[in-house]
Amino acid sequence: MDNCLFCRIVAGEIPSTKVYEDEYCYAFRDINPQAPTHVLVVPKQHVANIGEANQLSNEALRACIEAIAKIAAQEGLTGGYRVISNCGPDACQSVPHLHFHILGGRQMADQMA
Ligand code: 5GP
Ligand code: ZN
Repeated sequence: MDNCLFCRIVAGEIPSTKVYEDEYCYAFRDINPQAPTHVLVVPKQHVANIGEANQLSNEALRACIEAIAKIAAQEGLTGGYRVISNCGPDACQSVPHLHFHILGGRQMADQMA
């Protein structure tokens, strides 16, 4: 997807602060962090959101999910963390490339939304 912001970040056309990378996924710091640690994990293959996760291979989907715990350990999030994937307009998804927010480093609000 030529015009997709996160595809362009994965391709290195737009700079980002890399946190983790493997064959299937790429993770980088959110430009507008909502917590001391705020990392975005994206599949390298373009899919719009989690509703299209069935378009990813089992390996790619598993890599993205498993990356989350690896990054949490790397970031020292021993107290826990929150994982969010906004899907579509009601969830205010602003970038239409599947991504998982990892938020940690502070006590999260009791209510999710
Ligand atoms: P969404 O609202 O789609 O769930 O999350 C999109 C996230 O991407 C937001 O948290 C926003 O701050 C982040 N973001 C938007 N543009 C950029 C960018 O150019 N670089 C980085 N690192 N993050 C971005
Ligand atoms: Zn994309």
